[in-house]
Amino acid sequence: MSRPLIARIDTAALAHNLGVARAAAPRAKAFAVVKANAYGHGLTRSARALRAADGFAVLRVEEAAQLRSEGYTHPIILLEGFFHPDELPEIARLRLRPVIHRTDQAEILAKSKLGQRVDVLLKLNTGMNRLGINPKRLPETLATLRGAAHIGGITLMTHFARADDDAACVEQQLLRFQEAAQGLNLPASLANSAAILRHPQTHADWVRPGIMLYGASPFADQTGEALGLLPVMTLESKLISVQFVRKGEGVGYGARFIADRDMKIGIVACGYADGYPRHADTGTPVLVGGQLTRTLGRVSMDMLNVDLTATPTAHVGSPVTLWGVGLPVEQVAAACGTISYELLTALAPRVPVEES
Ligand SMILES: *Cc1c(COP(=O)(O)O)cnc(C)c1O
Repeated sequence: MSRPLIARIDTAALAHNLGVARAAAPRAKAFAVVKANAYGHGLTRSARALRAADGFAVLRVEEAAQLRSEGYTHPIILLEGFFHPDELPEIARLRLRPVIHRTDQAEILAKSKLGQRVDVLLKLNTGMNRLGINPKRLPETLATLRGAAHIGGITLMTHFARADDDAACVEQQLLRFQEAAQGLNLPASLANSAAILRHPQTHADWVRPGIMLYGASPFADQTGEALGLLPVMTLESKLISVQFVRKGEGVGYGARFIADRDMKIGIVACGYADGYPRHADTGTPVLVGGQLTRTLGRVSMDMLNVDLTATPTAHVGSPVTLWGVGLPVEQVAAACGTISYELLTALAPRVPVEES
């Protein structure tokens, strides 16, 4: 028998979650965000499950090329645009839509000699202060783009810094966007998952759902389940050893956990080289035989330790759920001071994936 660690991907849940995004933003078209290997879920299988989306959003030309080779004719946006002018002929040939987020990119694209028409998204920095042009420079940048015959449709875009936790901040960014876009009559794309779910005034023409498609909540104060989402990835393993630890003895590297009584512990085939966070401390939730318990001590490269006090019948071979159905990934992430996005995208290539 092979190592028991496996990531199960429920593709029907992906399709369901896209339906939740659509129902939340019924008048908008949706770019399904499948960057970072579809948040760790696999680009090819996720795109197949999300083919009802109106478009896809990726980071790299290679990912977009993969989707084109699989036959998708959807609009595909490149969230960071092009990194070098060398990429432009391929971008044009594959009919990709780069995000133009610096004024020099607009100039380079306008000056390039391309056989095909390229549609673009022009990104405005409205307060996130990461990517995007200053709204003051929108008129001149639009003039640059419109001066080139090979530049086709232009969609205005921005991204929210605090759609998950601060409505006033969303409102301020939205106002800056509307002020800049006023009178231009251009299509717009603003909303990520959090804005789709909580800020309907931001939906505009195209929404960009990411994390919600994978069943995780973008909010600290509301679960995916409460939002009607279904978990997509379940990371499962088994106990490969059981140890009886005497009161006062340490568990694992650095003896980071000291038994406060005699206790039974289990060793799970899953470690940080599989993508489980090493910084998960004692107390991170985990299911053993369907029962909620906690991790103990330091996560090793290939294994981690769990408390079997609550599951006295657990034995070598007992099933373990690290996250997914029965244990929301957000809950595990919160316990180790991070977010579901980081856990999902960190799933290591060595973990076998089974699709259901
Ligand atoms: C990743 C990303 C999204 C999706 O965000 P979620 O919070 O996962 O919904 C949307 N827009 C941009 C620009 C992104 O980079």
